[in-house]
Amino acid sequence: MRIVLLGPPGAGKGTQSVVLEEKLGIIQLSTGDMLRSAVASASSIGKQIKSLMESGSLVSDEVIVEMISERISKSDCSNGFILDGCPRTLAQAKALDIMLAKENMALDYVIEMSVDAEKMVQRIVGRFNCQSCGAGYHDEFKTPQTAGTCDHCDKPDFQRRSDDNPETIRKRLKAYDDQTAPLLPFYRDKSLLHTINAMAPIDRVTSDLEAIFC
Ligand code: ADP
Ligand code: AMP
Repeated sequence: MRIVLLGPPGAGKGTQSVVLEEKLGIIQLSTGDMLRSAVASASSIGKQIKSLMESGSLVSDEVIVEMISERISKSDCSNGFILDGCPRTLAQAKALDIMLAKENMALDYVIEMSVDAEKMVQRIVGRFNCQSCGAGYHDEFKTPQTAGTCDHCDKPDFQRRSDDNPETIRKRLKAYDDQTAPLLPFYRDKSLLHTINAMAPIDRVTSDLEAIFC
């Protein structure tokens, strides 16, 4: 099964991808995570994109298309994947269709995670992750069961993203409205689009997603 999760920063794409990976037995491909790894490794692409990401701008379609095309050709994607954070522009969506068609594949579902954009600032400012296993948490909405310790790996080290600050968040939300929201009619016309209420509590969003796939 090949799924795209569409929604502004903070909509819960990463949170739900982790659950879906386990339930559906397919992997999450987060372009944001891949780009952050490139920046952390100080590769030549990483050096080119660091300041763009820090400022909340989108990375070029060329970089994304090459990165995702290489990634989905790997054997661990043969059963399918959950794309989190990609495509983000019409050019990326069209390139994705072409690269899948070359392998006789196509997307099965595109999920619009519909939210109140104003509430996303609170979600993103409160977000933190386990440095060791990547598990995601929130100061208010998803706290670790034992304060200061990751529920999944028991490690005590958490981190916050440097682009999760109010100024950058505004810019990222605007980038979503301007450049990513046009993908909604694009996928609706292909009869792939399903919309869920991603303002509901995390467990409710999970069960609404399961009702679509399972
Ligand atoms: P995205 O990947 O779409 O940017 P995340 O999955 O990282 O969003 O979620 C952003 C923050 O909001 C995280 O701290 C997460 O724990 C929290 N969160 C996710 N979904 C919900 C929800 N339905 N209700 C409340 N908080 C949520
Ligand atoms: P995310 O982790 O999805 O919130 O993405 C973090 C940042 O990575 C974004 O603000 C962009 O700078 C960059 N990014 C991630 N995915 C894409 C994409 N598909 N196209 C362009 N830029 C992206």
